[in-house]
Amino acid sequence: NVSLILLINLVIIMLTNAIIITTHHPCSAFHASTEISNNLVCDNFTLTLASTDFGLTIHEKPLAVLEPTSITEISELIKVSNSLSTPFTIAARGQAHSVHGQAMAREGIVVNMTHLNGYRHGKGVVIFRDEKDLWNSYADVGGEQVWSDVLNAALEYGLTPLSWTDNLFTSVGGTLVNAGVGGQTFKFGPQIANVYELDVITGKGDLKTCSAEKNSKLFYGVLGGLGQFGIITRARIALGPAYTKASIIFHYIILFAYIVVERLVTGLKYVPTFKYEKDVLYQNFLHSSENPGGFPEGPQSWLDIFVPGSRISDINEGVFKNIIFKQNLTANGIILAFPMNRTKWNDKMSVAIPDEQVFYLVSVLQTVTYDTLKTFDDQKNQILEFCKDSGIGIKQYLPRNKTHEEWIQHFGPKWQNFKDTKNKFDPKRILAPGQGIFN
Ligand code: FAD
Repeated sequence: NVSLILLINLVIIMLTNAIIITTHHPCSAFHASTEISNNLVCDNFTLTLASTDFGLTIHEKPLAVLEPTSITEISELIKVSNSLSTPFTIAARGQAHSVHGQAMAREGIVVNMTHLNGYRHGKGVVIFRDEKDLWNSYADVGGEQVWSDVLNAALEYGLTPLSWTDNLFTSVGGTLVNAGVGGQTFKFGPQIANVYELDVITGKGDLKTCSAEKNSKLFYGVLGGLGQFGIITRARIALGPAYTKASIIFHYIILFAYIVVERLVTGLKYVPTFKYEKDVLYQNFLHSSENPGGFPEGPQSWLDIFVPGSRISDINEGVFKNIIFKQNLTANGIILAFPMNRTKWNDKMSVAIPDEQVFYLVSVLQTVTYDTLKTFDDQKNQILEFCKDSGIGIKQYLPRNKTHEEWIQHFGPKWQNFKDTKNKFDPKRILAPGQGIFN
């Protein structure tokens, strides 16, 4: 009888995810008695990978990496953390294409989302094609899926997502917590404006389906919410008919780095040899805007800012002419400027953008060396200072290195709601510590 009672007790402990904290190997600190413990990995190679991203400048080591074999495990992990008097932090890691450690969790747990691929059994992207109106079509996509796979699956049905980033190997969850912007944004809005529904595991560990009609606070909060309120496990992405060559021309624009066909350049000044035309397949066209010339491997010094349309010529004078070109620093990199239209954005979403009808994403993206990193980062700070001193109401995209006060300023009138949403869905400040907003 006594051993039966002991056994029952043990089972109860296992079911409640009891944690035994020990002082041995880091993984033993998470000696959870469920599948979670089987899928927590603590070897040096995995931890080093989880503390590295595309930027190669920030390295925050987690205690362990969860390689989930189901969505329930992620939910359980978050619940375990919530149950502790000192919760550990948890960061979802998509493709780690961040450049400032946003997907890291120092002494917390990183969830390697790509492992959900196994759980989906090849069904990470499911297409619904509406024969009566192709514009009502959509894809149900795992948050860990990469956009390139969404594209390939949709094209098989003659369909396509409408809005893209320039790199198709980012994860769906990873771009939806930012915005997802590129050459189509002026026409179709950012990727976050092309989502019908989400499944999200909140910072309390609850799995919720949300949309504009259902759990709308969570839905709007998560879109552009820098991973603060939940982990996206499914997104319903708007699809439309796949483009013809002609529609590509009118649905894509990017200035400075590329000039696309006659109609777009009429009336614009440009260096004639920069103009070229080439016939390519739609999917090759989307891939062609990736890493022009390639971002060589090395530390990245990047700055992305949204600039109000009325001040774009100040950026030309004060940033391009007086800072970047004058300093004449040598690096591999590109400067991009995308025009955007505010009406294509939804102000209820978390992302902070300038308060003008037309604004631009201006990106200065440079691959540097460890010797020159500080010089280039100083240049980025100089650009930010110039914008501040000149009263140009920029907003940083993929923001970085902010103090608490700067975050409040960054979100401006959206801050109070952002904080309230955090208190509601992640009151113990467990999720996405690498963004540095609440931790
Ligand atoms: P990660 O770096 O893995 O994670 C980023 C953040 O999202 C972290 O805070 C992480 O915890 C959180 N996160 C990840 N997955 C989830 C999830 N499922 N649910 C909730 N939170 C999650 N961006 C653009 O908008 N337009 C571009 O054209 C563009 N081009 C790029 C080109 C290159 C070469 C690179 C390296 C980046 C580019 N980016 C661009 C930026 C990129 O979209 C973001 O860095 C994006 O976050 C990368 O996605 P990821 O899957 O790698 O996210």
